[in-house]
Amino acid sequence: MTPPDPALLSLNAITTKKWTLAEAIDGCVRHGIGGITVWRDRLQEMGLAAATKALRANGLAVTGLCRGGMFPAADAAGRRASIEDNYRAIDEAQAIGARCLILVVGGMPPGSRDLAGAREQVKEGIATILGRAREANMPLAIEPLHPMQAADRACINTLGQALDLCDLLDPQATGALGVAVDVYHVWWDPQLEAQIARAGAKRLLAHHICDWLVPTTDLAFDRGMMGDGVIDLPRIRGLMEKAGYRGYNEVEIFSQRDWWQRDPDEVLRAMKQRYAAC
Ligand code: ZN
Repeated sequence: MTPPDPALLSLNAITTKKWTLAEAIDGCVRHGIGGITVWRDRLQEMGLAAATKALRANGLAVTGLCRGGMFPAADAAGRRASIEDNYRAIDEAQAIGARCLILVVGGMPPGSRDLAGAREQVKEGIATILGRAREANMPLAIEPLHPMQAADRACINTLGQALDLCDLLDPQATGALGVAVDVYHVWWDPQLEAQIARAGAKRLLAHHICDWLVPTTDLAFDRGMMGDGVIDLPRIRGLMEKAGYRGYNEVEIFSQRDWWQRDPDEVLRAMKQRYAAC
């Protein structure tokens, strides 16, 4: 396994949660990190025009915008509001030159026990926004989330499920719809190798890396730095590359008790060092 290309390292800005977007952009420049994935709350805080200018002026590749999705709702008005928000997300992603819009598709509406219905709503939601995304030339990346988050975050839980949606909604594999492979969510899947191969270069839109700690203490906010857990990161990167993925490797770490507490410059130094070994 050849080491990863240092030029393909990207910072998902949630990893340095203390920083504003402006600070994260400066941090990437200071540490020689060429890619960044942006969150919409921080983008709005900085302002779309200022952020676009700063990202361009510093030559950063915007590896994604987090996030669109959250389609299921209890009623038609809620579903409509979600679609409108996704349209705004597509516009923002286009403005900052993002390579894809990440879709965290949403779970079941509060009080619902209808998982199949939620999945149906997700299908309809993506089908509705796909035309707008095509016009904006903005690929939509469905991110399957670990099944522990099926109820509240995303009812698409495996790469196989996500790719079934891609086959249904974009059967020609035009590149308009694909998947984000986040190792934290899919590392355990016995179908991982087969599904990454199935996705192929056209549908592999993002690769999110971190590690799975043992024991893990929180369903969302206890991700590890690469090398501190049990995920075979070189193997998964190898599967991605074998399938034709040539994009960035994006470090995305939600870590309430550890990395979010540290000095973000220390986080970036650790991230660069660990990346070289995975
Ligand atoms: Zn992710």
